[in-house]
Amino acid sequence: MHERIYPPELAVDDRLPTHAQFAVMAVNGKVGLGVKAKHRIPRGTLVARFTGQLSNKIFQHSLQVSADTHLHDPWFVGLLTHSCSPNCVLDMQRLEICALNDIAVGDLLTIDYAVTEDVLHRQFACGCGSPACRKWITGRREPVNEMGQAYLQGLAARKVKRIATRQQRRALP
Ligand SMILES: [Zn+2]
Repeated sequence: MHERIYPPELAVDDRLPTHAQFAVMAVNGKVGLGVKAKHRIPRGTLVARFTGQLSNKIFQHSLQVSADTHLHDPWFVGLLTHSCSPNCVLDMQRLEICALNDIAVGDLLTIDYAVTEDVLHRQFACGCGSPACRKWITGRREPVNEMGQAYLQGLAARKVKRIATRQQRRALP
């Protein structure tokens, strides 16, 4: 069970995560994979080190290291789920994940994609459930695309309708 999550050619550092520490699995019936903790991790401590292959391209499972360098990791850190109130943050210079909150056994590791990425491989709608949810996720240096604008306008229209319906109900005798 001390097997590394990374393939042998990348798992040269014996501090890289093992299957005993983390479960890489399908999450909540969604298509994509996520990573769950198999041990308690206190806030402010090191969650894991990570690695990958450097590229000048953006992939679905890459993370930005510098202006035009990306770390492609479809095994571990590239699989972390986005949350607008994440429990982890990445240090892209040290290649370390740090816990922002206490993490319990079975908790999904989450990061805010906009913290590391200028531009995402693909913008997407977010339903992370956080009161701070931005609803549509982009990189930190790209505008909301057309699909996102339509999505956000749709959400806003539904909200206006809900408030109007509530007011109507209240107005009834
Ligand atoms: Zn969100």
